[in-house]
Amino acid sequence: MDKTAAPLVLFNSLTRALEPFVPVHEGEARVYSCGPTVYNYPHIGNMRAYVFADILGRTLSHKGYKLTHVINITDVGHLTDDADAGEDKMERMAAAQKQSIWDIAEHYKQAYWMDVRALNIRQPAKWTVATDYVSQMIEFAQKIAPAHCYELESGLYFDVASVADYGRLARAQTDEGEGRIEAVEGKRNAADFAIWRKTPAGEKRQMEWDSPWGRGAPGWHLECSVMSGEVLGFPFDIHTGGIDHREIHHPNEIAQNQAFCCKVDEPCGLDVPANSGARMWMHNNFLVERSGKMSKSSGEFLRLQLLIDKGFHPLAYRMMCLQAHYRSELEFSWDGLAAALTRLKRLVLAVAQLKERAGESAGAVPGPKFAPLLERFDAAISDDLNTPVALTVLDEIVALKKVDPAEKLSAIAVVDAVLGLDLLALERRALRLRPKNADIAVDEIESVLEQRREARAAKDFAMSDTLREQLAAHGVEAMDGDPLGWEWKLG
Ligand code: AMP
Ligand code: ZN
Repeated sequence: MDKTAAPLVLFNSLTRALEPFVPVHEGEARVYSCGPTVYNYPHIGNMRAYVFADILGRTLSHKGYKLTHVINITDVGHLTDDADAGEDKMERMAAAQKQSIWDIAEHYKQAYWMDVRALNIRQPAKWTVATDYVSQMIEFAQKIAPAHCYELESGLYFDVASVADYGRLARAQTDEGEGRIEAVEGKRNAADFAIWRKTPAGEKRQMEWDSPWGRGAPGWHLECSVMSGEVLGFPFDIHTGGIDHREIHHPNEIAQNQAFCCKVDEPCGLDVPANSGARMWMHNNFLVERSGKMSKSSGEFLRLQLLIDKGFHPLAYRMMCLQAHYRSELEFSWDGLAAALTRLKRLVLAVAQLKERAGESAGAVPGPKFAPLLERFDAAISDDLNTPVALTVLDEIVALKKVDPAEKLSAIAVVDAVLGLDLLALERRALRLRPKNADIAVDEIESVLEQRREARAAKDFAMSDTLREQLAAHGVEAMDGDPLGWEWKLG
């Protein structure tokens, strides 16, 4: 049986239902993911959104679709709150750090890309940078303005009453919008939003462009409509983002897409996928943390680098994400992360042993004994990306007895092509990270352990104990008889 045969079913937030994936273009999958606003380091919650998008992309590839994935980089237009009266996050950070916006954007884009690489997130076909698309944004706005927008002193506003079913994605009642969005004087509906923000008279922004509505900058929602449609073509298959985007950002994108795709002078209903932009809208739930360290405004906030500095390999965080379904809230804890690291270590150790046993016969094809397991793996991942179940199937593959080690390695490779834990390449040594504040180097630990092995071989147990205590004084625990074969850990 074909090991990619299970029907791919995904949860569409637009219908709030599981739906079979039916590509718009045969054999292809076109996916757009809302990317970061590069005004600060991403926190690990943000990175959960990209691990999710990566699993989606890898699954589509596994199912045989030719994937085109686009992620944007927002370097202008994202305000500090959903009220159009808020400040631009980029402008504010640039002022606070006394640097140009362009330098801020470059610095945090590079930092984000480092996290992307560390989490083994595949490169999308294209990264679209918002400021590269401003002329297309102006053209888009010009096309929809006559029937759907009106001008106020502060900018060009989208009239949400000009399209049918506004807020369908959020399941919002129109009057719910009243409290959500601060009133800008003259707005026709509380939920109306700026698609072009004029620079106030007498002021100068670091980033501003000429437009038919005066000098100013595009609105954040406009950016994503334009970049997704421009690169992938309307309609495309799947639009992703965090669950917060289901409430305002994506409903606003959909409204703009409707306005752009509807015929002029005809009622503009929500006709999926003809004018919704994307056929499916998918959202990951949040990573939550009780003590508030996820907030970028708190001092020591939860960046991937903080995890690394504390001695956790970044892929332990990826493992932690995969242990939860993407639609469930995931609570972060250091204990949970440690457990994920242990699980990863177990797998890496198993692979190392298989590699030793397989020797030169690598490259084998998984035999019939693996077929039922690979089918179950395919069924799990095809069932709305059920990674927790997929991981237990991986455990079963690893535990399978009396099979050829080379075949087992290739079965693991099939699974890991989707899970992306880098199991075939990850070295045991790499998982043994030393916390930044540790006062002993890894080489030193290894050399003391080597002396201790020699002492034990010579039955000099007094010496062996002295060396163990020497390590303990540096907070290192020698782990004799550890079933995982990890020789030491930091206390
Ligand atoms: P931003 O840079 O604020 O636009 O956010 C980047 C992505 O991270 C968006 O898709 C957000 O929806 C998502 N996101 C923000 N906070 C969290 C969180 N705590 N957990 C998961 N995803 C999040
Ligand atoms: Zn977006």
